[in-house]
Amino acid sequence: MQFGDVPGLAKLKTKLATSVNKGKLPHALLLLGNEGSGKLALAYALTSYIYCTNRQNDDSCGECSSCRKIGSHTHPDVHYTIPLTNNSTSAKKPISTDFITQWREFNKDHTFFNTADWVSVIAKDENKQPNIYREETRSILSKLSLKPYEGEAKTLIIWMPEYLKTESNALLKIIEEPPQKTYFILVAEDSDELLTTITSRTQLVKVPTYTEEETEAYLKEKYNLESTKAEQLSYLAEGNFRKAISLVESVEDNYSALFREWMVACYTNNLAKAYEIGESLHKSGRTQTQLFLTNGLAILRQSLLQKMVDNYQIKAEKEQQDFIKKFSTTLNAACIEKSYEQINEVIYQIKRNSNGKMTLFHLSLNLRYNFVRK
Ligand SMILES: [Zn+2]
Repeated sequence: MQFGDVPGLAKLKTKLATSVNKGKLPHALLLLGNEGSGKLALAYALTSYIYCTNRQNDDSCGECSSCRKIGSHTHPDVHYTIPLTNNSTSAKKPISTDFITQWREFNKDHTFFNTADWVSVIAKDENKQPNIYREETRSILSKLSLKPYEGEAKTLIIWMPEYLKTESNALLKIIEEPPQKTYFILVAEDSDELLTTITSRTQLVKVPTYTEEETEAYLKEKYNLESTKAEQLSYLAEGNFRKAISLVESVEDNYSALFREWMVACYTNNLAKAYEIGESLHKSGRTQTQLFLTNGLAILRQSLLQKMVDNYQIKAEKEQQDFIKKFSTTLNAACIEKSYEQINEVIYQIKRNSNGKMTLFHLSLNLRYNFVRK
């Protein structure tokens, strides 16, 4: 992870890079930010910057051996303390190294996650409370007492230090009186849950929540979303990238199937079914209806591209791909374009408070008419 991979946060990145370059990085940092902010990504990018052997003014190189090892969470001098669940009945409590393989795998696929997401991966029983056990302290103390294997410094990243309780006093003591060249990077969400001994011994770095504009830009880039859809999801996500991502995924899962059903109902002149779909959307509210329709626009746009562009690669799961292929062979381009325009227009009508149920039914009739004429 480089600074360049972390969305936004330009000022913070510059500030952190400058303190590293001047040799003034505090030995214990507390990156504090809401769920779905870039705090953990920033911690990783900072760690890469500290160790990079080909450091540029504002970012790590991303290619040297240190960067690669930190990117895969396998650098021998970078350690992790993370909340864990005790899955066995034995008296021996787990320590982070026991779960390092799962942690590496999980971080490969996820950038913005919360404790529950992580617990769902490691716990046999998801209701189990995670914890940072006292045994962790012993393991960390022994790791930090060794000389660095590579480079000059050792780093301990503590994710969610909210789970450090007073039984971890020995670890907190070492933050106060750290061994030479040791960095502690704490990544936390809720300052009320932190022991005051943590907040008093670390330098606070507040990681701001993303703005709606930043969320929109991120969704557009990562998921190739259209402006309207990205805008609406960003509005609902409230700057929480974790929420934004789960919205995209759930909207695509739930609404794509419903959209396909709706299109088939219009095509086969099953107006009762089309009416029923419109009614259920109307009940789910205006925002959800808009999301449904904007998701539908994306499907039509892909159908059009499938029709026009040679060897076009459809980005969708199997069922959706089949539908798009069928849709684009059954209908001509003018028909798809016209339907696209009509759906687009309805999104704005619904935004302007029109009667959703009637508007949607009227739209079904228009689409039916398009499909008949192909
Ligand atoms: Zn590098």
